[in-house]
Amino acid sequence: MSYKNLAFFDLDGVVANLALWVSETVNVLLRGQDYRGLSDSKTIRKCLRDLRKLGVTSTTPSDFSWSSLHIPESASDEEKKALKKRFRPYRSIVYKIAGQKGFFKELPVMNRWLLDVALSKHPHLCFLTSPIGNHHFSEDGSLVLDEKGQRCAEEKRWWVKNVLGLDNEVIVVPREMKAEIVGQGWLIDDHPKTWREFNAAGKKCYLFPDQTQDVLIRECGYTEAEAYAVLANSHPSSQESTDISQFAR
Ligand SMILES: [Mg+2]
Repeated sequence: MSYKNLAFFDLDGVVANLALWVSETVNVLLRGQDYRGLSDSKTIRKCLRDLRKLGVTSTTPSDFSWSSLHIPESASDEEKKALKKRFRPYRSIVYKIAGQKGFFKELPVMNRWLLDVALSKHPHLCFLTSPIGNHHFSEDGSLVLDEKGQRCAEEKRWWVKNVLGLDNEVIVVPREMKAEIVGQGWLIDDHPKTWREFNAAGKKCYLFPDQTQDVLIRECGYTEAEAYAVLANSHPSSQESTDISQFAR
């Protein structure tokens, strides 16, 4: 499978603020309140217990970013094991919360300015995003998402159309398939593992947010000074549409 399109944008963690939504939900639960019946879940209750054991009383979006939950390749086996254990409640609670029906439809937008800059140069850019849930390949080799994955894909397409207001294509594939889809194009993605795998395969991936300046310069025609200026003026927190009022209830 290869696409003529050359520009690809990841959704979660680049333009969809999954970490903010998850962190706000976890904070409600950590306060002992319920959110949409989640506190009835055994998995959630175990995660909350594990977080409390770690001394966590509240979380921030950065606790749920891939860069925070990343286990470096260079770590020793012992360090990897310890990190895995420490990250487990964070990772499990993300999957559990994100698995709720309607979750991906509600995510706040982040970095709309960056998307608009890229769209002005690459109007046909595609969104390339991974589903939650499981998948398998049918006999003819085509990808089959499970029920949760299909719902997630539908919700992500709905979100791009109705929240971003865009008709651009949304490709939903497991993370490991991203490099194949991107082909000779480029991707901006917040997952360090994806970035590392693209590099190893000689493909072009920009790690968000660290390499945003490179995207502006190499893919959007900005000069170094323009890219610097635009980044200096973009305050990530004010770029997010933080309509999180429902969590205050
Ligand atoms: Mg992502």
